[in-house]
Amino acid sequence: MDLKEKIRVIPDFPEKGVRFKDITPLLQDKNAFKYTIDKMKELAESLNADVVVGPEARGFIFGTPLSYAMNVGFVPVRKPGKLPAEVIRQEYSLEYGKDSLEMHKDAIKPGQRVVIIDDLLATGGTLLSTAKLVEKLGGEVVGIFFLIELTYLKGRDTLKGYNVESLIKF
Ligand code: 5GP
Repeated sequence: MDLKEKIRVIPDFPEKGVRFKDITPLLQDKNAFKYTIDKMKELAESLNADVVVGPEARGFIFGTPLSYAMNVGFVPVRKPGKLPAEVIRQEYSLEYGKDSLEMHKDAIKPGQRVVIIDDLLATGGTLLSTAKLVEKLGGEVVGIFFLIELTYLKGRDTLKGYNVESLIKF
């Protein structure tokens, strides 16, 4: 199936010069969405993962059906102030300024094998921070999956050493 056909490119969103990859046509198509989750499940098959981790917000969209399909749990990673219990935090640099991500302190147990998933790999900053959160808690990142990879931004270099997979490349 050609998943790329289901991605709508929106020029100048959210700001001028950005060509935003809109995943909503893929989500609306039951066959394309099912195919996406089935493919990701296939990628995870040999990894023996214990848990799926996904950053907000679009990491939830793919992470929860994947964890259900794999019969493992799901751990949300969120922007600061959203998670109610005790958290750990990881800062990362943006083009201008900083941002951070949080995870519950008891979300990952030492030695757990973790697959991280998000909709899109751009610079890799979001996923590198997510991987660091997992590792701070003693988890092992066995796979990092994306629906879309923007190859020209070289996010794979940021995630060097990890097992990175993507289903669509731009
Ligand atoms: P990075 O941290 O790799 O630079 O950025 C990736 C994050 O930004 C992902 O969480 C992703 O959801 C979001 N993102 C950046 N650009 C796009 C885009 O064009 N389309 C979508 N769907 N998400 C994007």
